[in-house]
Amino acid sequence: MNNWDIPEWLEREVKERDKICVYCGIQMVEQMSPRGTRKAVATWEHIINDATIVSRENIARCCAACNSSKGTKKLSDWIQSSYCKKRGIKKETVAEVVKEALKREMRAEV
Ligand SMILES: [Zn+2]
Repeated sequence: MNNWDIPEWLEREVKERDKICVYCGIQMVEQMSPRGTRKAVATWEHIINDATIVSRENIARCCAACNSSKGTKKLSDWIQSSYCKKRGIKKETVAEVVKEALKREMRAEV
């Protein structure tokens, strides 16, 4: 279960698709292990910060570290943040679903 009214079919589909963080690409874990850090725990993410867009294009899974860094920032702004620079996260390195969202975001701005 999740807190975001994500339908079960979508939850399953996205879990199947996003095994690694859609942003930084690390292997995520479902739950924090006793020895692990919270950073790698898988979290639900609205790629575009609009909770009304519940689709396979906007719902993704990313690690807790990326999620808390991104927060409510716009994707195209966040991708240029020092967090992303430090980790080598660029629009070329993110998952396909994020690339598509970035393209949509850019188009919307024009
Ligand atoms: Zn990440």
